[in-house]
Amino acid sequence: MRVFNFAAGPSTLPIPVLEQAQKELLDFNGTGMSITEMSHRSKPFMAVNDEANALLRELMNIPDDYSVLFVQGGASQQFAAVPLNLLKNGKADYILTGNFATKAYEEGLKYGDMAIAASSKEANYTYIPDMNEVKFRDGIDYVHFTYNNTIFGSRFTTLPKTDATLVTDMSSNILSEVVDVSKFGLIYAGAQKNIAPAGVTIVIVKKELLGNASPICPTMLNYAIHDKNDSLYNTPPCFPIYVSMLVFRWLKAMGGVPAIQKINEEKAKMLYDFIDNSSFYTNKINKKDRSIMNVPFVSPSEELDAKFIKEATAEGLVSLKGHRLAGGMRASIYNAMPVEGVKALINFMKKFEMENR
Ligand SMILES: *Cc1c(COP(=O)(O)O)cnc(C)c1O
Repeated sequence: MRVFNFAAGPSTLPIPVLEQAQKELLDFNGTGMSITEMSHRSKPFMAVNDEANALLRELMNIPDDYSVLFVQGGASQQFAAVPLNLLKNGKADYILTGNFATKAYEEGLKYGDMAIAASSKEANYTYIPDMNEVKFRDGIDYVHFTYNNTIFGSRFTTLPKTDATLVTDMSSNILSEVVDVSKFGLIYAGAQKNIAPAGVTIVIVKKELLGNASPICPTMLNYAIHDKNDSLYNTPPCFPIYVSMLVFRWLKAMGGVPAIQKINEEKAKMLYDFIDNSSFYTNKINKKDRSIMNVPFVSPSEELDAKFIKEATAEGLVSLKGHRLAGGMRASIYNAMPVEGVKALINFMKKFEMENR
């Protein structure tokens, strides 16, 4: 039986996509083999690679002067790849709004003069610093921020105010809401949150930023190399790219990012409204900075949190345990989580509250 899976990543995928992948697993398009058993230079796979690329461009309205790359190593690999490719003056500023933002900064420190432009660490990352007030240094190569903070459940709603190149980690909110790609120099996202199985990472980079990689940049991290080879410099993660293509088709068929954004906002509003109207559950994030993808909450005690997670699991509402850094519960309600899943969660929360108040 399928459960409602609130995992933060790897996470739930759309059922029609899983069914299609299952159907094609023994025989992809009459080839007599699955997509994951054939050469990445074969015609069928190249067509998948091209279609995935084209659909992502269409869904995100990516301008022609940007490259779309499918690389490996996860978002964490990008923490190094970004400075290795983009530093020209040797310095960049970081906004620290959570664990992944901090990791990106710490990795960056190995390669350049990195500064913390703003941080919400003193408040355990419960808010996003006011972008009208954050100032950046002169002569920096980029400003890095994490668009949606997967662990703490916050998200940027205003972009940093700077003429410097904007670099953002969109691992947990890519394709969840409309973004203007042209405002960014580089966007990266591990696929396993809102797109596909783990193994492929999306990089969307303005072409004019390519070609300045540091001499010590490993070939495999060099964006220009992947761009020149249509992401087929070496063997790519074929199966995750194939599932990405299926997810992009699914998203396009339902009306694209504007349509899913509307559903995502409805799902998030339902859940936050319920939490805010309850005296039992609490979400600690500054209201205007709340994520629409990851919703952390706590009950009145750690004992009740543990009981909640156990009983929810028994009812088919799984992976609700919060990250060890945040505690409590976290419901990740990515694109593939249906409205019914959120309704089922709220019903369970009501029942649990009545029984444990
Ligand atoms: C999950 C996540 C990461 C880490 O991704 P990996 O693919 O495991 O390296 C980085 N940033 C954000 C925002 C994430 O949600």
